[in-house]
Amino acid sequence: MIYDIVIIGAGPSGSTLARILDKKYKVLLIDKRNLKDKEEFKSPKCCGGLLAPDAQKVLAQFRLGLPKEVIVGPQMFSVRAIDFDNEIQKYYQRHYINVDREKFDRWLLSLTLIRDNVEIKTSCIFKDYKEIEDKIEVEIYNNGVTEKIYTRLLIGADGGASKVRRMIVEDYKEPDLYISIQKWYELSRELPHFVSIFDDEVTDFYSWIIQKENYAIVGSAIFDSHDGNEKFEKLIDKLRLRGYKFGKCVKSEGAWIMRPRNLKQINLFKENVALTGEAAGFISPSSAEGISYALRSGAILAESINRSIEKYGLYYKNKTFKLRMNIFLKNLKSILMYNKFTRNLIMKTGVLSMEVDKKN
Ligand SMILES: Cc1cc2nc3c(=O)[nH]c(=O)nc-3n(C[C@H](O)[C@H](O)[C@H](O)COP(=O)(O)OP(=O)(O)OC[C@H]3O[C@@H](n4cnc5c(N)ncnc54)[C@H](O)[C@@H]3O)c2cc1C
Repeated sequence: MIYDIVIIGAGPSGSTLARILDKKYKVLLIDKRNLKDKEEFKSPKCCGGLLAPDAQKVLAQFRLGLPKEVIVGPQMFSVRAIDFDNEIQKYYQRHYINVDREKFDRWLLSLTLIRDNVEIKTSCIFKDYKEIEDKIEVEIYNNGVTEKIYTRLLIGADGGASKVRRMIVEDYKEPDLYISIQKWYELSRELPHFVSIFDDEVTDFYSWIIQKENYAIVGSAIFDSHDGNEKFEKLIDKLRLRGYKFGKCVKSEGAWIMRPRNLKQINLFKENVALTGEAAGFISPSSAEGISYALRSGAILAESINRSIEKYGLYYKNKTFKLRMNIFLKNLKSILMYNKFTRNLIMKTGVLSMEVDKKN
């Protein structure tokens, strides 16, 4: 089978790309998850599922609103920042939307399902590719059967652990890779806020608590994965001492998460193989917010290919300039945020923080 474009990964970047690509292209979108089916998710995406204002803005620009099935309770309006290094805490107003990440991805994919030019294969794994004359031969493992397909352009929208990226980008350009661990605990009482935790003993990045209906997800992004579990348990002990009561742990999950530290670590394409979303290195190095970058970069890549499938690269590079600058600025913010002395200073000034009712 010959396609114009084969996209690996139907997360926010891959689905958006497939949805916006011109109908003149014959497109195949594959994902290893069983995203199309109504049945129970087999390997749900490990994610906090918070839609930041930037992601909300991109959806608005796409003229999309969220269906109610995607939203989960509670919706909260503040984050409690706990700094264990400096023994200080502050509350900040925030405007996230709390979503069920798997349902969010299924909804985005459903918008692509109606396009005749896009074929979707789920429970289908990308294995390998090689260039043959003017085409690319792609090996996939589709519901238990190995198949070879052919395409003019191959796109890696396969997330933080991108295999496509590893095949085209030199090792020294790899962003720092963190292992994120998330555990779901039964909750005995509602949380009135999201929580972000800074603690050098656990990670040089950050940890979080997010309520999803009757569960509290406790998560952390940890650089050195050898003792990740011990560090995570240390975090739980400290939170319990702070008064957080976690019930039975019902689910543990993990995923790689990228932290691009410089612009060399954002890689867009090599000849007829392109990258988008987190696979390209598009994710905030200060907050790990990745959905808005995935939506934006997927849309820009689609526009670039719509202009010319042969010369998409230069346009993609130019049009992602702002996005890359944004990551550069987030890195500067990171330097202040993750240095315990500057963070202490900033939190002590109380700038942008707010008072909350101490009785609750
Ligand atoms: C623990 C954690 C919490 C996070 N919380 C948030 C948050 O609250 N808000 C936020 O904005 N961002 C968050 N992020 C970041 C965000 O999840 C990602 O940056 C975003 O999902 C990237 O979108 P994407 O489409 O580029 O990749 P992904 O969403 O990762 O999608 C990649 C897709 O490729 C598929 N795939 C991968 N390899 C293959 C293969 N070999 N063959 C076939 N398919 C393949 C995967 O199944 C997946 O569906 C979090 C990340 C982690 C790890």
